[in-house]
Amino acid sequence: MRAAIYQAAGTVEVRDVPDPVIVEPTDAIVRVVRACICGSDLWAYRGVIDRPAGSRLGHEFIGIVEEVGAAVAVIRPGDFVVAPFQWSDNTCPACRDGIQTRCVNGGTFGAAGTDGGQGEIVRVPQADGTLVAVPGGQAATGPDLYPALLALSDVAATGLHGAVLSGARAGSTVAVVGDGAVGLSAVLGARAVLGAERVILISTHEDRAALGRDFGATDVVAARGEEGVAAVRDLTQGLGVRHVVEAVGTPDSWDMCVGMARVGGSIGAVGVPHTTPQLALFPLLRAHLTVSLGIAPVRRYLPGLVARVASGWIDPGRVFDLTLPLEQVSDGYLAMAQRRSIKTMLVP
Ligand SMILES: [Zn+2]
Repeated sequence: MRAAIYQAAGTVEVRDVPDPVIVEPTDAIVRVVRACICGSDLWAYRGVIDRPAGSRLGHEFIGIVEEVGAAVAVIRPGDFVVAPFQWSDNTCPACRDGIQTRCVNGGTFGAAGTDGGQGEIVRVPQADGTLVAVPGGQAATGPDLYPALLALSDVAATGLHGAVLSGARAGSTVAVVGDGAVGLSAVLGARAVLGAERVILISTHEDRAALGRDFGATDVVAARGEEGVAAVRDLTQGLGVRHVVEAVGTPDSWDMCVGMARVGGSIGAVGVPHTTPQLALFPLLRAHLTVSLGIAPVRRYLPGLVARVASGWIDPGRVFDLTLPLEQVSDGYLAMAQRRSIKTMLVP
């Protein structure tokens, strides 16, 4: 089979690799229907973080189950499934608390020594606890829905989790810092899933702002830094925003979030801080802020989100603005690294 391989910063290649086989009785083998490139894949591609040469790439995919291990009872061959970016048993104490990304038997697709989603076939550990089957299977699901289902494997659920962590609910005013796929998905989650009344998106890219408006942003602030904070305060009678979603993970974005949060407000953070923001605690103490962080437990949200996509309630797949064959995965990395693409979908 063919799979994307990380060679070095700036170099991703598609190579022949052995077909995966069932190793543990809880495994499933899934043939990938669609995969994609994540903003977090770009950290190594840009040379910001180290990644072993020769490692597999990708942690987002949907596909057809080809084979299951002897202990897999729920997922069946032929199922059309969405995979979260991490696997989990969905039964341990962390999973029962809804934090499947800290499962004691969990792991991340595309991490060293595992299969990646950017390939033709994937071995999925803990299949019953990980995969969610699409009702009706592939036959009942037209290709038009594939992008939306694929988006659920990470960004749609991660954005929603940021909104949930911020405490947003029906009628809330929410600000979203970050106009990448996760930030845009946070807009969609806050509005279409949680029922927020007003969502202020910080975006200096008109194409991203336009999609943010389509996803339900009621206001767009096209400024960053202190200017952006001042603009958000102007929109809220100088008070700031009760619920703020941090969807970048850099020192600058954290400064903005703290700056625009209303006294007593909450920041929900899902941006992965690869660059180690130095979060000053005194401003949080002084403003009585609550900060909640977490790598999104996608599996917790998947059943509900799959149902919403299948019924046409939400279309998070609009974050994909470039589709390439797997063989051209390298072009996709370049397009995303150069910000020519918000998110690139791959067809094996
Ligand atoms: Zn678990």
